[in-house]
Amino acid sequence: MALEVGADTENLGPVMIIPCARTKTLTSHVSGAGSQPVLWVNKTGRRFASEEVAMSFADAGNTIAKQPEGAVYAIIDADTVRHLMEEGSDIGLGDFIEYHMKLTRLQAELDQDVAEGVAWKGDTIEALGKAIGLDSAVFAATVDEYNDACDKSYDPMFFKPAKFLRPVRKGPFYAINMAPSVLVSDGGIRVNGNLQVTDKDYQPIPGLYAVGNEASGLYGDTYNLDVPGTANGFAHASGRVAARHVIKTLKGE
Ligand SMILES: Cc1cc2nc3c(=O)[nH]c(=O)nc-3n(C[C@H](O)[C@H](O)[C@H](O)COP(=O)(O)OP(=O)(O)OC[C@H]3O[C@@H](n4cnc5c(N)ncnc54)[C@H](O)[C@@H]3O)c2cc1C
Repeated sequence: MALEVGADTENLGPVMIIPCARTKTLTSHVSGAGSQPVLWVNKTGRRFASEEVAMSFADAGNTIAKQPEGAVYAIIDADTVRHLMEEGSDIGLGDFIEYHMKLTRLQAELDQDVAEGVAWKGDTIEALGKAIGLDSAVFAATVDEYNDACDKSYDPMFFKPAKFLRPVRKGPFYAINMAPSVLVSDGGIRVNGNLQVTDKDYQPIPGLYAVGNEASGLYGDTYNLDVPGTANGFAHASGRVAARHVIKTLKGE
């Protein structure tokens, strides 16, 4: 609508991507488990990053989106299921999964997801690889190599910190289908300091304002998490600045 009345764009298009289990919500315990820095493989059956990237969900979302078909499988064993249910998560995921939150619904959700075909279970690693549709031999080699890194508390491939090296050894084994999901869009409509929308000559279009995530300027080509609350804060603050300008304009000041 803004473009139709001559608005200029700036940095149109970026979205903030976050990992989420396919077909699930961010509060799902299956999604929370898959968002932990557990073993992640892509469609080739291999690891592709230090899963510690999960600590920053924006970076993790981008990393998952770069994988073939945007598909990532979080692989956990029975010990990790028990750990997440009884001892809690190793990392947080925004407000949805708090640090050390016990993922008490995990087993029940996993059982349901396996029954519905959106997660996979195997009594052996080979069976799990087959169920997902991976090259079983490559996948088994990845798991062997990863377990070896866990035993040595040293990850020679991606240097994931030892505290996140949880072996995948005790069946049954599960694969959670992680996908890049859109959280918010970031900017796009050029504004001035009053939050007035401007045209290509930087002239304000009378009566038209853009605030919050529609306004350009808060973020660049990505959504960083360095200062929590900046997106909500900007939504409030920019709305207030715009409203004050509207009042001044209506009063003819
Ligand atoms: C799951 C989630 C978690 C988040 N967590 C955080 C956080 O922890 N910290 C943080 O800072 N930010 C967070 N954000 C981002 C933050 O919520 C957004 O940046 C903020 O809400 C943007 O505010 P807004 O007013 O620009 O847009 P919105 O809040 O999306 O408001 C836009 C409004 O416009 C309405 N609308 C759309 N089209 C029309 C139409 N044609 N006519 C009339 N009304 C219309 C919509 O219904 C909506 O009410 C989170 C976002 C999500 C989705």
